[in-house]
Amino acid sequence: MKAYKIAVIAGDGIGPEVTKAAVAVLKKVGELEGFGFEFTSCDAGGCSIDKYGIPLTDETLNTCKASDAVLLGAVGGPKWDAVEPALRPERALLGLRAGLGLYSNLRPALMFKELAAASPVKNVETMDILIVRELTGGIYFGKHGRADSSEVLSDGSVKGLTAYDTEEYSTTEITRILKEGFRYAQGRSKKLTLVDKANVLESSRLWREIASELAPSYPDVTLDYLYVDNCSMQLINRPSTFDVIVTSNMFGDILSDEAGMITGSIGMLPSASLGAPGTPGMYEPVHGSAPDIAGTGKANPLATILSASMLLRWSLGETSASDRIEKAVRQTLADGFRTPDIKRNDDPAGVSLTDTEGMTAAVLERL
Ligand code: NAD
Repeated sequence: MKAYKIAVIAGDGIGPEVTKAAVAVLKKVGELEGFGFEFTSCDAGGCSIDKYGIPLTDETLNTCKASDAVLLGAVGGPKWDAVEPALRPERALLGLRAGLGLYSNLRPALMFKELAAASPVKNVETMDILIVRELTGGIYFGKHGRADSSEVLSDGSVKGLTAYDTEEYSTTEITRILKEGFRYAQGRSKKLTLVDKANVLESSRLWREIASELAPSYPDVTLDYLYVDNCSMQLINRPSTFDVIVTSNMFGDILSDEAGMITGSIGMLPSASLGAPGTPGMYEPVHGSAPDIAGTGKANPLATILSASMLLRWSLGETSASDRIEKAVRQTLADGFRTPDIKRNDDPAGVSLTDTEGMTAAVLERL
């Protein structure tokens, strides 16, 4: 029987709780579909700092590189807030992305109709957006630092200490991610929105130039542009009109949380980070380690379970198994199971509160 190699990085906070749920779902769907898994647990983030003094070891990175795919919970938490920046738990994510060459971050924001009442935005009937976020460039990776300046300003004051972070993008990086955006749009509703800040930023103007050069090669896709501030408004105003959004690292980071919240809860949002074809992708919920609810059983495991579904589809090509998980999640919601983040006081009869394990068991039954 075929056995796929999966590196599992449970991480910190609710990470171990939600990855346990996703691994159980993967095992079950493998049994049903006739394939198996070889799971290898790896440390990264705060738990790695505690054990090894660094957030990401070579051993973890090498295990990930040798796997078919990586499933990650979340890293970080207040325990490590005082750690020096270069050693913070979140550096593990940057190290994994760089080490695995992951440049494309797919963040679907899909509104399940059963959760429409849980959305903080009224009257959202449908919403199915794919945010394609560039992952290895931009301000998170640009030159950053601090400089002291004795320059005297016009008001007579001394400029003093300055901190800077630089947004930098190369033609290669932009072209690569824009092509992904066009391709995903071709496979969906054929609408691509480039979100930028081209009225102010030179890097955004380069994104626009390259997008307009590429557009004729994808004649079936309608390309439009939005400034990021306008996009943040339009996501609330008309979420159902978006299809694929392609954008830079930081804008994608922020907009995907916003789009996610419209779907009801960040606890529902999966993501995939992909590199060149044939290399292992990394799958993780959009949310963080949620230290405020860790260990309470309140964590919604569906974002990680849906990330496992993406793993099956995008890294293993097991589309039938992936479909099965999505169907089981939909049925679980239709049958009224709700973790606290998606439960509302005015939910109709038949909707009831459950915990992480209860939600996982409900999905497993429905598989
Ligand atoms: P967070 O996503 O962890 O939590 C934000 C809010 O959403 C909290 O109220 C939390 O309880 C809730 N929430 C998150 N996931 C949930 C789930 N599955 N079910 C129910 N409720 C959920 O963001 P934060 O509080 O800004 O960050 C906490 C820590 O996580 C920080 O150390 C941060 O750096 C880290 N972080 C890690 C990742 C990652 O590993 N990819 C991503 C974001 C934040």
